[in-house]
Amino acid sequence: MRVSILLPRPFNDPFDYESAEDFPPGTIIKVPFGRQELYGVVWTRNETAPSQTLKAIKGAGEGQLPGVSLQFIDWVSDYTLAPRGQILKMVLAVPEAFEAPPKARAVAEIKPPEKPLLSPDQQQTADRLIGSLEGKKFQTFLLEGVTGSGKTEVYFEAIDHLLQTEGQALVMLPEIALSAQWLQRFETRFGFRPALWHSAVPLAQRKATFLALLKGEVRVVVGARSALFLPFTNLKLLIVDEEHDGSYKQEEGAIYHGRDMAVVRARLNQATCVLASATPSLETSVNVEAGKYQHLHLPSRFGGAQMPDVQIVDLRSVKMPSQTWISPALKKALTETLERGEQAMLFLNRRGYAPLTLCHACGNRIMCPQCSISLVHHKAHGKLICHHCGHLGVVPSVCPTCQEADTYTAIGPGVERILEEVQTLLPEARCALLTSDHLTTPKKIEACVASIQNHEVDILIGTQIMAKGHHFPLLTLVGIVDGDSALSGSDLRAAEKSFHLLHQVSGRSGREDKRGQVLIQTYLPDHPLMQALKHQDQSQFFALEAEQRQLHGFPPYGRLVGLILSGKKEAEVQSTARLLARVFPQHPKAELLGPTPAPLSYLRGNHRWRLLLKTTKDYPPQALLRVWLQKAPLPPSVKLQIDVDPYSFF
Ligand SMILES: [Zn+2]
Ligand SMILES: [Zn+2]
Repeated sequence: MRVSILLPRPFNDPFDYESAEDFPPGTIIKVPFGRQELYGVVWTRNETAPSQTLKAIKGAGEGQLPGVSLQFIDWVSDYTLAPRGQILKMVLAVPEAFEAPPKARAVAEIKPPEKPLLSPDQQQTADRLIGSLEGKKFQTFLLEGVTGSGKTEVYFEAIDHLLQTEGQALVMLPEIALSAQWLQRFETRFGFRPALWHSAVPLAQRKATFLALLKGEVRVVVGARSALFLPFTNLKLLIVDEEHDGSYKQEEGAIYHGRDMAVVRARLNQATCVLASATPSLETSVNVEAGKYQHLHLPSRFGGAQMPDVQIVDLRSVKMPSQTWISPALKKALTETLERGEQAMLFLNRRGYAPLTLCHACGNRIMCPQCSISLVHHKAHGKLICHHCGHLGVVPSVCPTCQEADTYTAIGPGVERILEEVQTLLPEARCALLTSDHLTTPKKIEACVASIQNHEVDILIGTQIMAKGHHFPLLTLVGIVDGDSALSGSDLRAAEKSFHLLHQVSGRSGREDKRGQVLIQTYLPDHPLMQALKHQDQSQFFALEAEQRQLHGFPPYGRLVGLILSGKKEAEVQSTARLLARVFPQHPKAELLGPTPAPLSYLRGNHRWRLLLKTTKDYPPQALLRVWLQKAPLPPSVKLQIDVDPYSFF
């Protein structure tokens, strides 16, 4: 008989194969494909005899994906317009598992679980989640509470209830590779280690987890957004911690938002979904207001720790020597913190030494030859690096434009340069740089965290890698070197993203018995963002944001789809973009913005043009998109990337 098998390749439709045996949908089977052999999944059964000679399947089935996994593939593919096969590829994440199955490893009990004492607020909130689990119906909660209010303990109670009854739980964390402290808390609370799922987990371990999941043997998975696609057989609880975090958005391959897809997955499973945050995204807040999500609010810091004292340093009124970035106020705060035997962190979300290298004779700036962006000077490596494509260059001794020698100057600060300035200002201080360039492996991160905890470091200088997850009891001062850096640009969420980041960084300061201090250096002291941070009142800021977005019909009050066309030949990319715009099917609820060159108009050697499709909230754009894109087939040299609900605009 004929079986249709979906393959983990970028095709929407399954391929037909011949099989002597009948397999139910979801069965994982090896088949020949071109010169390769691949694992695919039986998509539909077909009783009719084959009309042409078909290739025969290999093997007899390696297991079966649960029906809900197939529904999820369909749903994500329909929504994102990514081919089903591309979604399947994320589901069959470790096909190696079928070739050489690893030895099954038992979940080791480490020590007896330690159940903490919850505050009345926490207990009440946990009871709501437990009630939802008992109801066995789909429900989404926003669990809101400031850093230290005990959100984790609350959702741990829900996991505990689930472990004592039935079902599986998935906890999604942003930047899971940095979540050692969270895992420690989990182990202490439950007495065992959850299954981990992210790209840095060794293959053998991922293989074991995948196979155990197929057998329904895993109770709790903790992972990055990719864990959503695992073959859970009885998923009853999904937790998205730090739901506002941008790292839940996958920007390459099949483009999707992990938080939003978690809610979909919960609905398909009739499960309870918990979105946890101290600073919920506007999207989630709007869903709460609309009554789609239940709101659970944990009011105060558990254990009585205080919120940090936030001061704004108005850089307009401070005279500072050129090419220095630490104001006298920040220097004073650093000195005082160190004198008290405490630690400080300086935050600047810019890697390297300087973002710009200019010829001071003719103004020529050094650009990446592959991308329309400046190369970033990394002094430690003696290199200029493109953060988009990895291109490496060196500072030329003679300017290629004006032929003058030794004219290149570093402009603006990166963290390396801030380190240099700190070492000049406070030569006694022991400093550590914390960026993705330095902390390249989990081991290095661990060692660095330990040295901070052992007080071998006085001042941490870091990028957003330090914004979350870590708890340093001695850290009582956070200095934000450039509060304005993320506010400019074409991103409609620039202010919101800035708020989330700066709020999170500020939260690193002070815990337990010591009140923290935060200094934000800015040229925009009156900006609603700075005021919200200063007064620790985000409501007004978010109300303003909401008003602006509503006015323009932008998300979450409308829908957006980003379409990026790219290719080696600029003229072809441009004419394809214009053609697409010409054949756009008019609809009263849809509007086309563009085409225009994308903000990054040249990336990795490709020219890029962008169109933005905007529709009203009540008009999902997928059907219109399908009709539209069929009207203008792409030339083979032009690639189209579709980003439904875009999060980045570059
Ligand atoms: Zn020059
Ligand atoms: Zn580049």
